[in-house]
Amino acid sequence: MVLPAWVRDLDPDRLDDVRGWRDPKAPDRGVLLVPTDDGPAGVVLRAATGATRAAAMCALCRTTHTVGGVALFAASRRGAKGRQGDTVGTYICADLACAEHVRVETATAALKPAPGTTVDERRAGLRERAAEFVAAVTAEG
Ligand SMILES: [Zn+2]
Repeated sequence: MVLPAWVRDLDPDRLDDVRGWRDPKAPDRGVLLVPTDDGPAGVVLRAATGATRAAAMCALCRTTHTVGGVALFAASRRGAKGRQGDTVGTYICADLACAEHVRVETATAALKPAPGTTVDERRAGLRERAAEFVAAVTAEG
């Protein structure tokens, strides 16, 4: 896993946003860092082949993108289920930059934040839904 420069500068103890990146050397792989009540949690993601064929909404930050802006990612479950190949899949911004997208104030043709919400509400919702995703991945049994 290759870490982008900005990731090496991250202080995990001060993580207050969901941060994600695609591996520059293996673009079908990515990582999501999620602040949770138990501290930052990392989830390794694998992108399913083929982009969405229509506009789609990210399940974590609820930003709507035009074609190709959202991808289906799968994370292996922890424990015995993961070893059997069980995964949790969800649609996420293809660039995994949800934290940047929730800060977009004005919708553009390519990128529409959830309507009727403030940046703070979108950031909080992103953290909440990402933490739920982490809980689904790490749930045992
Ligand atoms: Zn997103």
